[in-house]
Amino acid sequence: MRKIVIAGNWKMYKTQAESEEFLQGFLPHLQETPEEREILLCPPFTDLSALSRNLHGSRIQLGAQNVHWAEFGAYTGEISGPMLTEIGVRYVIVGHSERRQYFGETDATVNLRLKGAQKFGLTPILCVGETKQQRDAGETESLIISQLDKGLINVDQENLVIAYEPIWAIGTGDTCETKEANRVIGLIRSQLKNPNVPIQYGGSVKPSNIDEIMAQPEIDGVLVGGASLEPESFARIVNYH
Ligand code: PEP
Repeated sequence: MRKIVIAGNWKMYKTQAESEEFLQGFLPHLQETPEEREILLCPPFTDLSALSRNLHGSRIQLGAQNVHWAEFGAYTGEISGPMLTEIGVRYVIVGHSERRQYFGETDATVNLRLKGAQKFGLTPILCVGETKQQRDAGETESLIISQLDKGLINVDQENLVIAYEPIWAIGTGDTCETKEANRVIGLIRSQLKNPNVPIQYGGSVKPSNIDEIMAQPEIDGVLVGGASLEPESFARIVNYH
């Protein structure tokens, strides 16, 4: 039985005060959420401590948006695994397309971060996905297989989540057709040693399309950007039918 993981990626949005305000609006909705769904918030680093204190006793798990592979060191601007686990963080997003596109992440650094996350007790969420140009050129399958091959070298597949995020669908309102997302996620699963790795879909997930997305047999959850910023819309997503 594969785990269902629903994660909100807040990107570079929300101050600490705003994150606490979000929680007040969001927490009451979790009373309706089936127990087996893992609910995860991935705020900016600066919100993690405050949220961790406020979440004490709640079922929400915390995720970071990046992690360095070393335990500590002269790596200005980076955050290590032990710094995250000490404050109660359990998950971390690795290789998001915005990190690859704007901050020079490569499959090699993604691989280092995945192994570093696992070494210090975090569960990484590996993001893969193609650009519009790659899709139009018929390169979706080969690109994704290559991202998996290079990213997953020596990565423990017992402690891993994967997110399929077609880049052209992120933040655009242009969702990937659900059957197509299901097909690509099936392809991803066929490449894995462990078929029970939860595989999420990400890309313009919203209250109006969540039920259809989660009805697909290969899709084990969602990674949500914009629609996770408002308590009511993220609540509708975690409480999908
Ligand atoms: C994301 O940030 O990973 C994402 C999928 O964003 P959005 O839901 O806004 O498309």
